[in-house]
Amino acid sequence: MKRSERIMQLMKLYMKEKTHTGTSMEKGNETFFANWFQDVPYFVKHPDYCGLYPIAGDHLNRRVPWALLKGKGKKTIVLVHHSDVVDADDYGKYSETAYDPEKITSVFKDGSIQMNDTVREDLESGKWIFGRGTADMKGGAAIHMALMEEYSRQEDFQGNLLLIAVPDEENLSAGMRGAIPLIKQLKELHDLDYILMLDVEPHSRPDENTALIQEGSVGKLMPVIYVRGKLSHVGQVYQGFNPVNLLSAIIRRTEVNPEFIETAGNAATPPPTWLYAKDQKNVYDVSLPIAAAGYMNLLTLDRSPAEIFNQLKEISENAFEEVINDIEKSYLYYSKVSLDKTALPEWKPKVRLFGELYQEALDDSGSAFIQEMESVMDEVKNNIANNEMTLIDGAYRMIETTLSHVKDLSPVVVIALAPPYYPNVNNSMMPEAAKPVNDAIDDLQKYSLSEWGLTFEVENYFTGICDLSYAMFQAESENIRYIEENMLLWKHVYDIPLEAIKELSMPVMNLGPWGKDFHKYTERVYLQDLLERTPILTDRLIKKMLGE
Ligand SMILES: [Zn+2]
Repeated sequence: MKRSERIMQLMKLYMKEKTHTGTSMEKGNETFFANWFQDVPYFVKHPDYCGLYPIAGDHLNRRVPWALLKGKGKKTIVLVHHSDVVDADDYGKYSETAYDPEKITSVFKDGSIQMNDTVREDLESGKWIFGRGTADMKGGAAIHMALMEEYSRQEDFQGNLLLIAVPDEENLSAGMRGAIPLIKQLKELHDLDYILMLDVEPHSRPDENTALIQEGSVGKLMPVIYVRGKLSHVGQVYQGFNPVNLLSAIIRRTEVNPEFIETAGNAATPPPTWLYAKDQKNVYDVSLPIAAAGYMNLLTLDRSPAEIFNQLKEISENAFEEVINDIEKSYLYYSKVSLDKTALPEWKPKVRLFGELYQEALDDSGSAFIQEMESVMDEVKNNIANNEMTLIDGAYRMIETTLSHVKDLSPVVVIALAPPYYPNVNNSMMPEAAKPVNDAIDDLQKYSLSEWGLTFEVENYFTGICDLSYAMFQAESENIRYIEENMLLWKHVYDIPLEAIKELSMPVMNLGPWGKDFHKYTERVYLQDLLERTPILTDRLIKKMLGE
């Protein structure tokens, strides 16, 4: 069978398994891969070179299919793709057809689904194939698999390839985080030297003749800000401290704040934005709320968690002072015009990282605190697993439990992190190891330009968040401590083996086909890339990097 036919065949088989992210359907990746292991003579002959690796503590018992092709020498490339797709609700009554590229294309052709002019043009050109997972990313997966089959038939393949298919990428990347111990075990068992993690996510193209590859991936943090105020009746507003006021001041100083925009190489992050913020009141009454909290989305290119935490702390302290000043000014006027002469309580700014607050609770309450945290953690963990509680409500619950063990009852701002955390990665962080990657990129650029007139631009960062974030960790070790201390639900509900990632650190690259409208019902992949160009380039890259 020709390579292009095999890619198409594998993609269709893979698409048939509806591996909707974050659901038990994701286990469909196991069926698909178990069949593949049976189909490829090499894996029939070497059953211990492939398998389904369980993700530790996963509430859906998902597993990571993996396959090792052992050739000569130590050099190893990790081929990664995610096996999950977003659901097909977007297709409306054709949601069942979405997994069959031919059927869904004919539905488009007979005009049963609305589409805009761009989609129609692409459809009529015959250059695109439609369907859920074609672009994101079972098409790319099929490219890696077809190439691996070809290499497995070669007598003396130079180097090694480890293919992993990770679940949950569109959600919390449980698959990639869970695959780290496997990657480590295989390295030790087979004495592998990992020289690259190669992903095959699709890319958007600025124009038909300009393709993109990425040599890094943006980082993402979800800081949680929890403000505990002081309760008071509305009649005595100066005796209380309204946490909504302070939280708003912090939001005002962080939302789209350009000081958080990072630039590195040819990339820039959008500024932070708040995804959620509200008081923590669950009754309708006439008291000030006791607490208010929210969380924001923050993308990074170069800066470490420690730097971000310090910046947020400083901003929160300034906001706290500003709010106290405003209250004092207001009170000054009020006390002149009113008969109410009750003195204003003396407020002092208090801002704590969650790790610091935890220590305070431990100092004040000791083992009673530890015990309650453990039982609350168990409860939260169960509730989240049963979908009775969101991650963020679980996070708030941990902060509240901690606060209840701190003796000081004055208003306080608590800064913590909610899952997920994606470290920023870029090959410039490991310049020595990246040299062969950069040489291979040069070669691809020249080849592609002379062969197809196609220019390849190197993006320093994949901006869509991807699994490559867990291929290296190059920040100072103190950052690991920052994450561990301040990440809520750490180890119980959410975990990243940062020490192991730091040890395994390898350069990254994303080389995938051109795709459009990811996550939409018009998702499609460019046939020439899927069947011809991306496989040729990937093959070239692999041989160049694994060769002597
Ligand atoms: Zn993807």
